[in-house]
Amino acid sequence: MEIDEFRRQAHEMVDWMADYMAGVEAYPVRAQVPPGEIAARLADGPPVEGEDMGAIFADFQRDVMPGITHWQHPSFFAYFPANSSPPSVLAEMLTATLGAQCMLWQTSPAATEMETRVLDWLRQMCGLPEGFAGVIQDSASSATLCALLTARERATGWRGNEAGLAGQPALTVYGSEQAHSSIDKDVMIAGLGRDNLRKLPVDADFALRPEALEQAIAADIAAGRKPACVVATVGSTGVGAVDPLRAVGEICRRHGAYLHVDAAWAGSALILPEWRWMIDGIEAADSFVFNPHKWLFTNFDCSAHFVREPDDLVRTLSILPEYLKSRETGEVIDYRDWSVPLGRRFRALKLWFVIRHYGVACLQRRIARHIELAREAAAWVEAAEDFELLAPCNIALFNFRYRPAGIDDSDVLDRLNEALLHQLNDSGALYLTQNKVGGAYAIRFAVGQTGTEQRHVEAAWQAIQATARALDPRTLAAE
Ligand SMILES: *Cc1c(COP(=O)(O)O)cnc(C)c1O
Repeated sequence: MEIDEFRRQAHEMVDWMADYMAGVEAYPVRAQVPPGEIAARLADGPPVEGEDMGAIFADFQRDVMPGITHWQHPSFFAYFPANSSPPSVLAEMLTATLGAQCMLWQTSPAATEMETRVLDWLRQMCGLPEGFAGVIQDSASSATLCALLTARERATGWRGNEAGLAGQPALTVYGSEQAHSSIDKDVMIAGLGRDNLRKLPVDADFALRPEALEQAIAADIAAGRKPACVVATVGSTGVGAVDPLRAVGEICRRHGAYLHVDAAWAGSALILPEWRWMIDGIEAADSFVFNPHKWLFTNFDCSAHFVREPDDLVRTLSILPEYLKSRETGEVIDYRDWSVPLGRRFRALKLWFVIRHYGVACLQRRIARHIELAREAAAWVEAAEDFELLAPCNIALFNFRYRPAGIDDSDVLDRLNEALLHQLNDSGALYLTQNKVGGAYAIRFAVGQTGTEQRHVEAAWQAIQATARALDPRTLAAE
């Protein structure tokens, strides 16, 4: 492509991008296509001769856009948000243009040095103690994997990487039953075995019970196993529960277990001092992760991983073949040694853009507003006679269900709420996802989209009530 052509196309696409951002509310939130529909619109094989960019872009709009779920829609209340913002998108354009592969300091000193700097900005913004060093990972799953691998190496006296785990006592890992599924996956990948993962019972607030942790560790030690790692959750995915870090850290310290804190979503709320109670006791943690790509207006991917002992992480992951040596090896940070993939994008730039453009005060106001909106919505649900909260509003997330008078059968209620969820999402007006709370089917409501305002939350609540009350529970009961 000639540069003049690139310039023209880029201007046209930026116009489209701005129109998209301004008009995203006109789209159905969740894609409304059945499986296979988009694939059927795409050519069976690659073109032999190059095509005109105008034609490609027209096909993007016609054939691809219907298969997009609009995560940047202000009526997106599903999963957790993956919110973005204009400054973040601008930075991504520059990152893509530079096309730098930032595996070593030398392969782009600015990327490495900015990463160190903005992660320390984030550390200060979240109230993490000094001494935590940060790195950007692609996901919280990857950060937790790095934590488990470091824990594994520590627990094996740094023998796991060399000798494998055969001949070692079984290494055990602990989290609450509300902990994220990425921990299960990471335990599998780290070769620790899911049989050695303890998902412990929780208290009435869905938080890890320290006594249950203590007991599980004692039982494992008695059986000859070696407790290697505890993953505490701050803001669990299902209900937003917060594990008691201070008590958990105390137990870890006593047993020499590594403590990793998974705050993938809720970490962003720590920029508000009134939420720092959630990390009371964080001094005892070995590592901490949260995702600016969830709730800090920085588009996917950008996961902030903080470690207390970077040397332990590097010792776990570094490999130095001849072709990756550089004159500065050992003097500078080579972030390739801090993560599983070798190659890395220049992801710090978008954080730098976002934090500088908005400033901490504005980011705080936006997060505080999301929390306030979620609380308001939860209060409406609680006040409605035919709805109930199944888990209270934690941070900016609550779980509820429709429960009309006279229906008490749990299977019928489950089916009714499942039907409600599908009808709401099929309408395209909003997007919610499901959960199980105490065995009951629940609808999760998470507020955190960049553009979400009170009117979107109000409209969602209106749609939920109207759709629920139009359902006929008898047809479901008869199924
Ligand atoms: C979203 C989430 C994850 C996974 O995040 P990825 O960045 O997609 O890997 C892990 N833990 C918790 C608590 C989460 O909410």
